[in-house]
Formats: sequence, structure tokens, C-alpha cells
Amino acid sequence: MAHRTETQALHAGYRADPTTGSVAVPIYQTTSYQFDSAEHAASLFSLSELGNIYTRIMNPTTDVLEQRLVAMEGGAAALALASGQSASLFSILNIASAGDNFVCSQHIYGGTWNLFDVTMRDMGIDVRFVDPSDPENFRKATDDKTRAYYGETLPNPKLEMFPIAEVAAIGNELGVPLIVDNTAAPVICRPFDHGAAITMYSTTKYLGGHGTSVGGVLIDGGTFDWEAHKERFPLLTRPDPGYHGAVWLEAAKPLGPIAYGLKARVTLLRDAGAAMSPFNAFLFLQGIETVSLRMERHCQNAEKVAAHLAEHPKVTGVIHPSQQSGEARRRADAYLNGGYGGLVGMELEGGKAAGQAFIDNLELLYHVANIGDARSLAIHPASTTHSQLSEEDLLASGVTPGYVRLSIGIEHVDDILADIDQALAKV
Ligand code: PLP
Repeated sequence: MAHRTETQALHAGYRADPTTGSVAVPIYQTTSYQFDSAEHAASLFSLSELGNIYTRIMNPTTDVLEQRLVAMEGGAAALALASGQSASLFSILNIASAGDNFVCSQHIYGGTWNLFDVTMRDMGIDVRFVDPSDPENFRKATDDKTRAYYGETLPNPKLEMFPIAEVAAIGNELGVPLIVDNTAAPVICRPFDHGAAITMYSTTKYLGGHGTSVGGVLIDGGTFDWEAHKERFPLLTRPDPGYHGAVWLEAAKPLGPIAYGLKARVTLLRDAGAAMSPFNAFLFLQGIETVSLRMERHCQNAEKVAAHLAEHPKVTGVIHPSQQSGEARRRADAYLNGGYGGLVGMELEGGKAAGQAFIDNLELLYHVANIGDARSLAIHPASTTHSQLSEEDLLASGVTPGYVRLSIGIEHVDDILADIDQALAKV
């Protein structure tokens, strides 16, 4: 019987090192691997046999991380990358080229927005941003050049759950795979259970959990029916001149339903080189061992902080799924299991000046741009991450002048509340 997520987080993909018996996953800090013979090397390069060639495209430490995440997510193949940004970029580039388009939720991380709206448009790939609160918007924006749908599980600042099953169902009907950025909700949400085709993470956040390393991962669910929609995916169904004419849908068949994952590794990662270092893969494995426990505490603490802030006289709004009602809450309850995540937004009645003063008054919470650290973190988006936006765009994105984003950590909740209270008292 397959183990549960908490158990897989400690065991999947590794037992003990075959040479030394080491129980901790060794850090294979090597660039290359000795081939057994000329014939062995030739069969690795032709993909008739899978094995280690060069650390830009695979590494035994990174392989354990990939296998572990595949098991935890219920997917078929994973590709560890240098950052969450490279995972987002690869997720689209793997199936779209100049002249193609994809449809994306308008509620996504700002860095992903820039990547899609500026850099990828410059590459000739058109992004169509839509409001995900009505999933039908994805259908309306689809045409025969649409190669993917893209959404983020619990996007800040609004923290409204993305309708995974609804959008995946439209995609399955029209032949468009749904890619979900699940960075903010590991363990509490498994996008593949709800029909997503591809899941990606910035492992920099909760999966790593200790704020030590930047990384990303792209996971192929292995269930999307590329075969039934061949005309939409020439990159998977036409001979690839970059790999002696391989047709990825055919080449992957002996290996399993991993055409998307295999192609991403042996073409995009080979060519762009955005590899995760073995040392970072080791650190992410350490983080993942405790991610289910940490998520439990992040969620409990965040819910208590949200409830506390909702009663605070200087706070005019609290943004957290536990405080939502209506459709947003229904979706959060349908997709999240074990808590509503560790991110909390609050709006201060004093606007921008109050938001900045609150941040300056914090003593325990760190003032950083990151999320998902074991420590509690805070930032004032209007004067930092979102400062380039016009007043109108700020409001549309959900960032009011007095909005403060909190990433609630795993400290004792009373200490978090005490720091927030003393910082609010001086605002
Ligand atoms: N996706 C989400 C939801 C994020 O919050 C971030 C980073 O903040 C990224 C992707 C990008 O990840 P990275 O910083 O690891 O490149």
C-alpha cells in the first residue's frame, strides 16, 4: 500500500546508500559520471537506457528529491530546477513556442507576472490574463493556439483559492493542460487530486522551510491525454531537431506517461542549464522531512493570528481563507485539507504610513520579501513588492495602501501575537 504523505516525506525515493549504508541522502557533489563502456555511454545519450550523464541534467541527490516529490504529489515525473522562476518558465516553454498563447489567472506572484507579461511576450508567446473567480473565463480566452492554463493555489494578496477542478475540467474538454503553482500550499493541497496536469513549486518557500536555498520543481502528473489533442502540442508530437528527430510522445512510451517531464529535462534543462545544485537538493530534502508538521503549525498559527486581527481596532480588514465567506470559502474548504495556509493579509486604517510604521516597529517578525520560512515574516507591499504599480493597478491587484502581508511562522503563537500587538500599538 502506498504510504501517506507524512511518511513519503521521510522515505520516498531512497532507502540507504548502496555503497556506504548512509541513511541520510548523500550529497553527490560531482559534475560527471564514469561510463561503463563506449556502448553504455552511447545508450545513455540515445535515451535507450536512463542513467547519469552530467549534473546539468541529472544528479543522484537531486533524483531523490525528485522521486520524493513525485510520491508526495501523486505524479509521474519531476524535474528540480534552480528556482521557482525557472520552473514557471519551463512549465510553459516545454509546450509553447512563438505564435502560441496560454491563459493565466490574473492573481499570481508578481515575479511570475513579469516573466509572463514582459519576457515571454518578447519571446512571442502571448499570455491572456483572466479573472479566475469565474472559471469560464479560461474557456472564453482559449483558441487553437492555446497551449496551457496557469493558476496559483493560494495567491497573495487576496488569498482566494484557485478553482483547480473547474478549470482542469474545461482544459480536459478543450485539450489544454492546467499548470498549478502550489508554492503556498504543499501537503494541504495536492493539485493532481483535482485534475491539474502539471504542478510546480518554488521550493524556496515552505518545502525548504528554512530560508536557506532558492530552488524550484516541475512535476508531471502523467494523466493529461496529450495523444488525444496531438494537434495542440507540436513540441511533443513532431520530430525534435534538437534530439536527432525524437518525437517525445513516442520516445517516452517505454518509460511511462512522462513525455512532458522527459522533454523538459533532456531539452530545456540541457539547453538552458537552470539546474539545482546537489547541495541545495540535499537542503530541500531536509526541509521536506518536516514539511507536514510545519504546515500544520503554520496553518494553526495563521488562523489564530487572523482571528485575533479581526478583533483589533486598528485593523480594518483581515485576508485569510478562515475569514472568507461565500464562493471563496467554499473553494478553500473543497481544496485545502488540514488548514488554510500560513499567509495572512491585514489592512490598517492608517493607510500607507501605518503599514510602514507597523513594519518598522516589529521586533520578532523579520522584514523580508520571502514567504514560507519557519520564522514569521512581514512586508508592506504598496511600498516594496508592488511599488511600481499605479494606484489603480494596486487596488485591482488587492493591495490597498495599508495592506501588510504576514507569513506566519512556527514560533509559539503567543509570541507572534505579542509582537504584532506591540507593533500595532505604536502605529
Ligand atoms: N511562485 C510563487 C507563488 C512565489 O511566491 C515565488 C517567489 O516568491 C515564485 C513562484 C518564484 O520562486 P523563486 O523565488 O524560487 O524563483
